[in-house]
Amino acid sequence: MSARARAQQLRALLNEANYRYYTLDSPTITDAEYDALLRELLALETAEPLLRTADSPTQRIGAPPSERFAPYHHSAAMLSLANAFGADELRAFDERVVRLAGRPVEYICELKIDGLAIALDYRDGLFVRGGTRGDGRVGEDVTPNLRTIKTIPLQLHEPLAELEVRGEVFLRKADFVRLNQARERDGFEQFANPRNAAAGGVRQLDSRLTAARRLSFFAYQAIWRDVEDAPKGQWDALHRLHELGFSINPYVERAATIAEVIAICERWELERDTLDYEIDGVVVKVDDLATQEALGSVARDPRWAVAFKFKPREAQTTLLDITISVGRTGTLNPNAVLEPVRIGGVMVKSATLHNAQYIASNDIRIGDTVVVTRAGDVIPRVVRPIVALRTGAERVFTMPDRCPVCGFAIDHPEGEAMSRCTNATCPAQVFERVLHFASRGAMDIEGLGEVLAEQLTELGLVRDVSDLYHLTAQTLERVPRLGPKSAQNLARAIEGSKQRGLTRLLVGLGIRFVGEQTAAILALDFGSVDALAQASVEALQRCEGIGPEVAGSVALFFAQAPNRAMIERLREAGVLMHGPVGRRANDGVLAGKTFVLTGTLPAMTREEATEAIEALGGKVTASVSKKTHYVVAGEAAGSKLTKAEQLGIPVLDEEALRAMLSPGDSAPG
Ligand code: NAD
Repeated sequence: MSARARAQQLRALLNEANYRYYTLDSPTITDAEYDALLRELLALETAEPLLRTADSPTQRIGAPPSERFAPYHHSAAMLSLANAFGADELRAFDERVVRLAGRPVEYICELKIDGLAIALDYRDGLFVRGGTRGDGRVGEDVTPNLRTIKTIPLQLHEPLAELEVRGEVFLRKADFVRLNQARERDGFEQFANPRNAAAGGVRQLDSRLTAARRLSFFAYQAIWRDVEDAPKGQWDALHRLHELGFSINPYVERAATIAEVIAICERWELERDTLDYEIDGVVVKVDDLATQEALGSVARDPRWAVAFKFKPREAQTTLLDITISVGRTGTLNPNAVLEPVRIGGVMVKSATLHNAQYIASNDIRIGDTVVVTRAGDVIPRVVRPIVALRTGAERVFTMPDRCPVCGFAIDHPEGEAMSRCTNATCPAQVFERVLHFASRGAMDIEGLGEVLAEQLTELGLVRDVSDLYHLTAQTLERVPRLGPKSAQNLARAIEGSKQRGLTRLLVGLGIRFVGEQTAAILALDFGSVDALAQASVEALQRCEGIGPEVAGSVALFFAQAPNRAMIERLREAGVLMHGPVGRRANDGVLAGKTFVLTGTLPAMTREEATEAIEALGGKVTASVSKKTHYVVAGEAAGSKLTKAEQLGIPVLDEEALRAMLSPGDSAPG
C-alpha cells in the first residue's frame, strides 16, 4: 500500500475512533491501539509533509462538540498533550525545551488523571459557566451538570473578578464499580472504564443523572486574568488554586532535572494501582509560566508540557472457555476462562465478557486468541479476538436457556443487554430479594436491612422471602449480635408486614419492571395475586399503562413453578393477597391533580403523604412548575415554597391536605 493510501486509511480509522471516544463515550479500540495508529500517521506525515492534511487527526483536538448542548466558546484554546513513551522520549522533550528556552528549566510532574478535561468560569468569585474541551475552540456547555460535582466549588474563597480554571473530571474506582453494579442490575450495558463513565456522566441532558455518578474533580490550570499577585509558576498556581477552594491532586512533585522526572514517571508506572482512581501517565510541565508562554504551542500540543504514557496493560492469550455466573439480581454474567497471562505485573486467568450481545457484536469465540486489558482494580476485560489467528476450531458461544444455578428458564428481554433468571427462589438471588422485599416501598419490615438480610440468608434461615414468616423471636435470637429485644421487635415487624396489602406485596416480589406505580395499577385491576397469576399477556396489556415488556415479565414470573409455590407459602403464612378491586387511580377524587411536597409535615412522613395522594389518583412530582396544582408545605420548607408563592400556586399545610384526603369531602378546585 502506498504511503498516501495508508495515511488516508489511518485518518479514517482515527476519525472513527475519535467519534466513538469523544462523542459516544464508547470506544471500540484500546487507548494503546489508538496511540499506535496516531504515531504511525505522525511518522508518515513527518517523513512526507505533503501527506499532512489540515483536517488530519494529528492536527486536531478531540472532536466537534455535540449539538445536544449549547456551545461553550473557550477564551483560550484548550490543547491536547504530546506523548512521550519511555525515558528516551522524555530526554528528547527536555533537549528541545532547553534549546528553545536557552537554559535548563525546572519541571512539575503531575499525575495524568484519566477523565475528561473541563473549563470553569468564575465571575466575582462565583461559578457561572462550565464546558467540555470539545475541539479545543468550542466545547459543550454543561454548567448544570458541573454544579452537581461536589469538588467543584460554587464560590471561591476570594471574590476574584474573573478566573478560568481547568481540570479533570473523573470517577473513583469504587464509584465506578458501584455504578457498573447498578447498571448490571438495571439491565444496562456496563462501562468499559471509569474515563468513559465520567465523560458520559458530564455529558448528560439531565443533571440528576450526572449527580448520581458521583464524579470528582482535580484542578490543574488557571488563566489568571487581571489577578493581583498572580502565581509565576505551575507549582504556585496549584497551591493558589487549593487556597481558592479547589481539590488539587496531592501527588504533584517538583523536579530540577530530567533524570528526576524520569525517576518520578517510572515510579508511578509501578505504583499506579495504589490509587483509587485511574491514571494513564504523568504530565510533565515547565514550572515557570513566563517560559511556558514563550515556548507556546504547535498544532494541538503545547511545547512546554508532555504526557509520559504508561505502557498498556493488555496482552494476548487464548480464550479457553466461557462460563456463566448468576448475579445477585439474577443477571447471567458470561466470564472468560483464559490461558493465564501476565498483564501489568498481575497474573490474569479470567476476565469479563459483559453479556451475550457484547460477545456476539465483537464476534468473540471460544478458542480464539483474544486481547485482554486490565484497568486498576477493575476486572480485566476481553477486548476483541484476533481473527487472523483463527484455526477454524473456534466455537460460537450461545447463552444457556436455563439458569446454571437453579435450572429454571432464562428471560432474554428483547433489546436488553442482560439475560436473567426469573426464579424468585434462585439461591443466587436470595439476599437481594429479601432486602428488596423488606424495603420501605415494599413490605416495609423495620430493622431488616443489609446486615441482617445477609446473616439470615447465609445462615440458611431464609431461602426465599416466604421463610421470613416462619422466623420466631426464638430463632432470631440465634442470629449473632441480635439481642432478645431486637429479635422480638423484628419478629413483630415481620408479623405486621403481613397486612401491607396487594400493591406492596407485588412490589416486594421483585417482578422485573413492576415498581410501585405498576404494582398499584395491577393491584387495582386484578384485585388478587390469584387473578393476576392467571392473567394472560393479552389481558395484562389491556390495563392502562401496561406495555408488552411489563406484561411479558409479569406472565413469565407467574409461569415459573417455584414462584407459584413460594406464593402459596406466603399465603399459608397469612400474608394478605388481595386488595380493593376496580377503583383505578385515575378515577380518584384527586385525579389529574399534581402535588409537590416540601419541608417536614407535623405528623405525616413524605411517603405517607405521597401514598395517600396517589391512592386518590393524584400525582406527586419533584419540582414546582406552572402545572403544579398544590404545594404541600411543612416546617423548613425551602425554595419550592418560594416558587409556589411566585407562581401563585395554592399552598396547603398538613391539616388542609388531610381535609382534602378524607373521604366524603368533594374533589377540590
Ligand atoms: P491526552 O489524554 O493524551 O492528554 C491531554 C489530556 O490530559 C488533557 O486534555 C486532560 O484531559 C488530561 N490530563 C489529565 N491530567 C492532567 C494534568 N495534570 N494536566 C494536564 N492535563 C491533564 O490527550 P487527548 O487529546 O485528551 O486524548 C488523546 C488520548 O485519548 C489518546 O492518546 C488516547 O489514549 C485516547 N483516545 C482513545 C481513543 C480510543 O478509541 N480508544 C480515541 C481517542 C482518544
